[in-house]
Amino acid sequence: MKILVLNCGSSSLKYQFIDMENENVLAKGLCERIGAEGSIIKHQGKVEFKNEVPMSDHKAAIGHVIDALLNSDHGVISDIKEVGAVGHRVVHGGEKFTRSVIIDDQVYSAIQECCDLAPLHNPPNLMGIDACSALLPSVDQVAVFDTAFHQTMPEHAYLYAIPYEYYKKYKIRRYGFHGTSHKYVIKRVAELVDEPIEELRIITAHLGNGASVCATDGGKSLDTSMGLTPLEGLVMGTRSGDLDPAILAFIGKKEGITPQEMENILNKKSGVLGVSGLSHDFRDLEEAAEKGNERAKIALEIFFYRVAKYIGQYAVALKGVDVIAFTAGLGENSPFARAKISQYLCAIGAYLDPAKNNVRGKEAMISYDNSHPALYVVPTNEELVIAQDTFDLTR
Ligand code: ADP
Repeated sequence: MKILVLNCGSSSLKYQFIDMENENVLAKGLCERIGAEGSIIKHQGKVEFKNEVPMSDHKAAIGHVIDALLNSDHGVISDIKEVGAVGHRVVHGGEKFTRSVIIDDQVYSAIQECCDLAPLHNPPNLMGIDACSALLPSVDQVAVFDTAFHQTMPEHAYLYAIPYEYYKKYKIRRYGFHGTSHKYVIKRVAELVDEPIEELRIITAHLGNGASVCATDGGKSLDTSMGLTPLEGLVMGTRSGDLDPAILAFIGKKEGITPQEMENILNKKSGVLGVSGLSHDFRDLEEAAEKGNERAKIALEIFFYRVAKYIGQYAVALKGVDVIAFTAGLGENSPFARAKISQYLCAIGAYLDPAKNNVRGKEAMISYDNSHPALYVVPTNEELVIAQDTFDLTR
């Protein structure tokens, strides 16, 4: 069975087409600037190409993806019927979804109801689902939620200390995100250390543009750093992460800006970009810091310090930790970032081996043999989790 995995954003769409017989990626790519001038599809399959083609909406974009898969010269299938199922990344499943599900009318409405909680993410996810219903009407579609993995968090981890009525009325609570990534990484860690996942306490640090830490006990999420929205927790590329909530009103008053504008600043103009004034990209910041740029240095230091503090908190929450795993763009590829974060982790018994740490983009143990917890790098693969869940539900 071959599965199309879709991750639909407001003006972009990432896709992978995976053969579940061997979990090989047959083709993958990206559509950008959907609904705008200059929309483009970047495809990698039997050949690699970039085509600028009009895409007025997600349906048009997915139409181009299907054309690329079916192309008589370089396509990877000869009949549309070979698309066995479609797996969608859906960002917010609220409290309704604790696992992936086949999308029917009820599920669709429930995802719609969660738009309030993820106004930037769930509507484009629904557009992708609508487009597939129109283009592939007889194909099953599955929703894989970023939030579902964290639904095992206990009440004391997910409730905020604000009047309880807001939880009851509006479902204001911690949901957490990057669930598919954290889930994939802990599964791989258990395989790598060759111990049952049920017996492991693992802290995963997903460090990309978006970043979150997750504490898992026996394969279940116990706590995670993102909250009601992906804004909470770690410092990120452009997001502030945790801050004193009083700052919002203070700056709002001083600068005469609305809560919505403030939210935009905290999401898009803060984080390492805001502090450095230079870039949201960690590669740029590492390079600038090396050349002596003080603001880049401090932006990175704030980031590393916050990651380390969260790992420390979660070691306490878990009453001990067996493995700490780094993943996502920065976590997988930056020995420098891992070394800086690990400087703090001696406090909990984790000792990075600089020689082993010199690794990029592949699975590796990077601590000394007698370090407990052990430190690992595990490249994430959210698309594979989406494909596996989709396969399990629809085969
Ligand atoms: P997202 O999926 O959240 O957009 P990624 O997981 O792709 O993000 O991570 C992107 C981040 O990873 C970028 O800030 C990028 O600079 C960083 N990154 C990727 N490769 C490296 C590297 N070799 N060294 C340092 N940072 C890197």
